[in-house]
Amino acid sequence: MKLKGKTAIITGGSRGIGYAIAEAFIREGAQVAVCGSRLTSAEKASEKLHAAYPDAEILPLGVNVADSISVKAMTDAVMKKWGRIDILVNNAGITAAKPITEMSDEDFTGMLNINLVGPFLCTREVASVMIAQKSGSIINTSSMVGTYGGKNQTAYAASKFGVNGLTKSCAKELGQFGIRVNAVAPGVVGTDMVAESVTDAMMAAMKAITPLGRMADPKELAGAYVYLASDDASFTTGAIVSVDGGIVM
Ligand code: NAD
Repeated sequence: MKLKGKTAIITGGSRGIGYAIAEAFIREGAQVAVCGSRLTSAEKASEKLHAAYPDAEILPLGVNVADSISVKAMTDAVMKKWGRIDILVNNAGITAAKPITEMSDEDFTGMLNINLVGPFLCTREVASVMIAQKSGSIINTSSMVGTYGGKNQTAYAASKFGVNGLTKSCAKELGQFGIRVNAVAPGVVGTDMVAESVTDAMMAAMKAITPLGRMADPKELAGAYVYLASDDASFTTGAIVSVDGGIVM
């Protein structure tokens, strides 16, 4: 039980990678606020987790990470229930592929608002709590695209390069308060996001440049988050941890 007694917020926890993180954190003894973009999806995920782990302490929340009022309400709800926040996982995100010449203002800024402004707003809000506690672990979900860029992925890539910058800068700024800030950079992971946005041809091309020759199951990502959230990673901060099957783009 590496996270026994710790309180965690996971944005985008209602499905995909975030759901796998929530499950792993619960297994390791954490109390978890499972956040989805809609309360109903968070509640559904929470029911599923409760069915597997009846003793788990779970708080389902509907949050728009791109809205500072909604993010404050999320933080307040967790503080009201548990009185502390040990772990923040900024995992909520969206993707879309489009040539830059066809990308509208809203395509670009909408992506940035959820994928980059979202982690900024959540970090700003939760950092105040963690500074008062003099401890905390913040983990951002980046992407391999945040290292290599991606064709037709200008907005997504810019958001994930931004997430890496946020991670490294917050690590420098918040270390003095005992707060560690790291990121996990997944490769291709079998979630709804990929099912909705990656064509068969794109998938075949990805597999061809991945030494492990396949995409990941979301559960294969969760261990990296458990490690970074736990005291095992007490001297790790500012790291971008690749969990990508060795892909080189
Ligand atoms: P997913 O679509 O299955 O889940 C995304 C989650 O984000 C959902 O729970 C959704 O409710 C939430 N969300 C979306 N917009 C939101 C908003 N405005 N406010 C709050 N929550 C919102 O996707 P996933 O594949 O599990 O992706 C999770 C993270 O992993 C994302 O940041 C994504 O960029 C990153 N990632 C995914 C892959 C992959 O191959 N699946 C690869 C690299 C990085």
